[in-house]
Amino acid sequence: MYGYAGKIGFVDLSKGRVSIESTSEQLIKGYIGGHGLLIRLLYDTVPRGADPYGPENALIFAIGPVNGTLVPSSNRFSVGGKSPATGLMVSGNAGGLWGSELKWAGFDALVVTGRATKPCYLLVEDGRISILPAAELWGKDTEQTDVLLKAAHGDPNLRVACIGQGGENRVPLATIIGDKTHSGGRGGTGAVMGSKNLKAVAVRGHQDVKIADPKGLFEETQRLIEILMSEPHYWRYKDKGSPSGTTLYQETGAVTAYNGQYGQFDQFDSVGREVYLNRYSLGTTSCGSCPLPGWRKYVIREGRFAGVWTDGLENSTVQCFGTKVANPNPEIVLVAHQMSNLYGLDEISVGVTIAFAMECFQKGIITTKDTGGLELRWGDGEVILKLIDLIAHDQGFGKILGQGTRKAAERFGHESEKFALQVKGLEISTVDPRGYQAWALQYAVSSRGAHHMRAYSTWEFGETPGGLSEKEAKEANIPDTVRKDRFSVKGKGKAVAIAENARAVVDCLELCKTVARQKLGLYENMAKVLNAVTGRGWTEEELRKVGERKTNLERLFNLREGMKATDDTLPWRVLHEPLEDGPSKGVVVNLEPMLDEYYEARNWDRATGHPRPEKLKELGLDPVDP
Ligand code: SF4
Repeated sequence: MYGYAGKIGFVDLSKGRVSIESTSEQLIKGYIGGHGLLIRLLYDTVPRGADPYGPENALIFAIGPVNGTLVPSSNRFSVGGKSPATGLMVSGNAGGLWGSELKWAGFDALVVTGRATKPCYLLVEDGRISILPAAELWGKDTEQTDVLLKAAHGDPNLRVACIGQGGENRVPLATIIGDKTHSGGRGGTGAVMGSKNLKAVAVRGHQDVKIADPKGLFEETQRLIEILMSEPHYWRYKDKGSPSGTTLYQETGAVTAYNGQYGQFDQFDSVGREVYLNRYSLGTTSCGSCPLPGWRKYVIREGRFAGVWTDGLENSTVQCFGTKVANPNPEIVLVAHQMSNLYGLDEISVGVTIAFAMECFQKGIITTKDTGGLELRWGDGEVILKLIDLIAHDQGFGKILGQGTRKAAERFGHESEKFALQVKGLEISTVDPRGYQAWALQYAVSSRGAHHMRAYSTWEFGETPGGLSEKEAKEANIPDTVRKDRFSVKGKGKAVAIAENARAVVDCLELCKTVARQKLGLYENMAKVLNAVTGRGWTEEELRKVGERKTNLERLFNLREGMKATDDTLPWRVLHEPLEDGPSKGVVVNLEPMLDEYYEARNWDRATGHPRPEKLKELGLDPVDP
């Protein structure tokens, strides 16, 4: 079987049982692998109404057929389950080398169900899976866990995905960290792992990936690297790192300052990207087979935080621990980022939830009586770090914030839900939706709540977001205004649906969307590398269908869990309260026409939110009962 390891490992922690099955042709034909494989396994494994913390929930790790090869950025893995934050499906996608190592260890996916009676970890090695005791790892942070497991197995090349204290304490804002600093996404995957008493999954493999056309793959890889290096975003990420986006959002008035009370941050120069580049950068590196050295390392050399190092500072990090909480101190941003990685927390949700609490404090909705004596002043670095600590340990006021903004707003009352920046229970990840209408729509319809990477609709930045060539974009009748006018709405519903389908295929291949953001994400290019690796003769049309099928199956999972069409919405603030400053002044999100267009492009029923029967038939999916 070219490209695939050909095996899926099933682990029942309640019974301490491991079984291994072949990766079926049906799964490959329907979903290729990676995130598509994950969604299908999740849908088939987790029963309707399952308790996210219950043994019946599944935690699934999956990789794709090109993982472990030379294909640019083919090193990632997806992890997901039913979310304790949203009650819907959730999954994330992480870099590093863990994903490639799983292939070399002989597996396309791991499906973990049940709950161990005592802390344990999985050792996955060359076709074998062992459940081993983890008592000595429990209570350790993610870096300590990584170091201890490498030492215990005498193998510095062991790859570790694990939880920190956040996951152990089953905090809904907890995530899984791979290779020390690569976050496995949002929605509480770390809490699901903690609920299973599973501390880590350590992977090591020595198996080859069989390639159908090695010469063709080598040539194709070289061609793609040349294409990538001809694109402006390659140089932007290489030279400036991911926080580049924050500068753009500040300039366009969409940086969500003071929890979205302002579009621009009045002290932005203190926390903008140049500060990290000039003062703290140690240089760049990249994950596994990624040719884009945009994963920058940082160190604080002097002062109170001297010696703190971290890497992978994202645009979202700078917003969540900088502009959203109105913090002008870049060292607090770096330390908060490092703490989130060590504790295994989703830094986006943590930052947004702290910003929400600060606004509640500003408005007198909560006081020091609620916060355990903490004065939640805007930009107070000490408070930010203290709250991260309390959230990770599920203590004091952190017990409330650790539940996320939706639950915190229910508790605080006084109409605070109006400025709780979340969708379906997941906090808004980056840009203020009022600044970019298509970006707003992708928050509203994303299957996991308000995250931007499902569609990663970069149309409004002047690009065609993968999938479509310029010619195809014209043929699809996407109006020019989609790219030229960030405040317009016509054509954006269709554009977001197109982008979601294309990005879904990128996820099935487990490529990085930063790398596949433009031409590498064209169906034509994805089909070429996939066929060179697998020899299966995938057509572009078949890839389109896989992307659409995967997106529809995520929808079906959520509908089965009770999601309604009315959940495809946005926070009251961005629908009704115009920004009063900056270049996005006076704008709110005009969501309804975009939703109408999106539903039509998807052939989903506008009233019920369900895919129409003919669409399901076309994709080979079964309907769920309303
Ligand atoms: S672009 Fe950055 S995050 Fe993506 S694979 Fe490359 S180094 Fe990793």
